[in-house]
Order: sequence, then structure tokens, then C-alpha cells
Amino acid sequence: MKSATVVGSGIIGLTTAIALQEIGIQVRIISREHFKNSLSHKVGAIWFPFEIAPKEKTNLWASQSYTRYLEDLRKPSGVSLIPFINAFVAGSNIDWQYQLPKGTVREAQKNELPAGMETALIAEVPLVEPMIYLPFLFGQFLENGGDYQTQTISSLHELGGLDELVVNCTGLGAKEICEDEQLYPIRGQILRCERFDTISFADPTQKGALRYIINRTNDAVVGGTDYVNDWNESIDPNDTELILKRIENSGVKQKPEILEELVGLRPKRKAVRFEFDPEFSNVFHNYGHGGAGFTVAWGCALELAELVKE
Ligand SMILES: Cc1cc2nc3c(=O)[nH]c(=O)nc-3n(C[C@H](O)[C@H](O)[C@H](O)COP(=O)(O)OP(=O)(O)OC[C@H]3O[C@@H](n4cnc5c(N)ncnc54)[C@H](O)[C@@H]3O)c2cc1C
Repeated sequence: MKSATVVGSGIIGLTTAIALQEIGIQVRIISREHFKNSLSHKVGAIWFPFEIAPKEKTNLWASQSYTRYLEDLRKPSGVSLIPFINAFVAGSNIDWQYQLPKGTVREAQKNELPAGMETALIAEVPLVEPMIYLPFLFGQFLENGGDYQTQTISSLHELGGLDELVVNCTGLGAKEICEDEQLYPIRGQILRCERFDTISFADPTQKGALRYIINRTNDAVVGGTDYVNDWNESIDPNDTELILKRIENSGVKQKPEILEELVGLRPKRKAVRFEFDPEFSNVFHNYGHGGAGFTVAWGCALELAELVKE
């Protein structure tokens, strides 16, 4: 195979394109909008498998992504390692800890926990700052000889006619292209704030009462909501209030200085779609990564490159 077209320029599309270039394929990216307008550009992103399935596959992808992010640490890429407190309760999936090197995860002491948290793990995990990392990846893609084109694809048939290999990385856009009834949004409203002088944390243990602070280089992401099947992309002031209340209840003394309010729709499926299309054998689907696209992106991209090589 000599050429491939990747549709979509979010985190999944860009990593997929680069992984294919690394095995010697000439890659073109087609995308409805510039990566700066994608979901991937405006959110996150901490390494943590939130709202993604199936566990058996996503753990492996998360582990491979972790390794790749370590390579990017040496470059000015927007990737760093940060300490992160992550709450769990009985029944939580905490298998992600086994994907991290020994000695980088431990159970938190009671006095380290934000208010309202009973049990948590503290781990050193990759923080990927999308506003730096996506331009970094796009630059790498162009340097590797990639072409970029703005175009909207409206059907599976159109997708199939694009190239000898076509990879569908359109996130929630795949709902329309593939008429995929299994794909739905999980609405996340977040606040971009001035940095906090607290360690980053997340409490995903209660559906509908998600709370987290992720400190980045120049700001912090404060969340959030996780409303299933909610397509509303407008800011809801009630959600902003809820988020601020939950942060206050976490014992954070510092008053949040809001820089921006944002909404993103996580592209969720019962299972990530990672397979060749049953009808168009040149089309590979790579979408539906829920709340963990950054956490698993490189694992998916590298596995696809291996498949293509074979
Ligand atoms: C509030 C919030 C916080 C999050 N935090 C984290 C986090 O901390 N860690 C983490 O790992 N993940 C996080 N996520 C999840 C992560 O953002 C997503 O899983 C990821 O961005 C999905 O990437 P994607 O490339 O599949 O989709 P997108 O970024 O949406 O990219 C899709 C691309 O496809 C293109 N496209 C769509 N339709 C068409 C079409 N018809 N024709 C042509 N092109 C098309 C778009 O233009 C775009 O370029 C968070 C999500 C939200 C909402």
C-alpha cells in the first residue's frame, strides 16, 4: 500500500496519520474543519480512561499511548508528567493503574484527599495540552510530507471512494456518515480558569456529579458534566454554578478565576469502533473514544499501523 486518506484532524486523526507515515505510507488528511476547531483542541487532557470501553482493549491502548507520550516529553510538545489524585469506590475500574510503571502509583493518604473523597490513587500521569500538542502533531505530519484538505464527507459510500486505504477518524461526525445508532454524545461543560495551587484531582465516582481540576502550564481545566445523549453545545449557567459549587465542596480555598466556559460532546459508543468496514473493505473505522481519546489515541494508531503492515 502506497497511500492513505485519514478523515478527521482531531487527536485520533492526527496520531493515526503520523503512525501510517511512520510505516512509509503517503498520507493525506481530509477534515471538515481545522484541528483548532475540533473537540480535541478545546478540552483536557489527562491520561485517564474515563467513559471508554471495552476495558480489555482500552487498557492496552492506554499503555501504548503512555509509552509514546514519554518519548514526546523530551520535545517542546505540550506533554508533561503530573501528579494526579483519582478517586475510586467499590466497583470502580482501577485497572488503569497496572498500565503505569511500578512506583508511580500509590493509594493516597486520608490527609491528601480533597474533601468528600474517601479513597483515591495518586499517580504520575501524562498531561497533554491540546493547544500545544495538536499544532506539534500537525507540524510533524507536514514535515513527514503529509497533505491537508478541507472537505466534508457525508456518506460511507463517499468515504470508500477516497483512497486505497481510508481511516475514518471523525469522532461524533461518524454518527451521520455511518448512520451509527450506537454512537452518542456525553456532554461535558468545563471552565478554563487560572491555575490552582492544589494538586490536580478528579472524582468520577458519581454519575452526574463529576468534579475535577487539571492544572496545565498556563491555566487549569475545571469540570464538569457528563450528561448522556445531551446534544446541547451552549453554555448552561446552571452547570457553571454546579461546577463551582462542587469545587468549593472539595475544600479548595482559592477562588476560581474563570477565563472561559466551554462545552464539548464526548463521542461515546458501547465499544470504540476499531475495525474494517464490513461493506467497504478499504475503510477502517477508528472512532467513539468517549472521554479518553487522548488516553488511547497512540495505542489505536500504532495498532492500526501494525495491521496495515501485515
Ligand atoms: C469536557 C471534556 C473533557 C475531556 N477530557 C479528556 C481528558 O482529560 N483525557 C482524554 O483522554 N480525553 C478527554 N476527553 C475526550 C476527548 O476529548 C475525545 O475522546 C477526543 O477529543 C476525540 O477525538 P477525535 O479525534 O475522535 O474527535 P474530534 O476531536 O471531534 O475530531 C473529529 C474530526 O473529524 C472531523 N469531521 C467530523 N465529521 C466530519 C465529516 N463529515 N467530514 C469530514 N470531517 C469530519 C472534524 O472536523 C474533526 O477534525 C474529554 C472530552 C470532553 C468533552
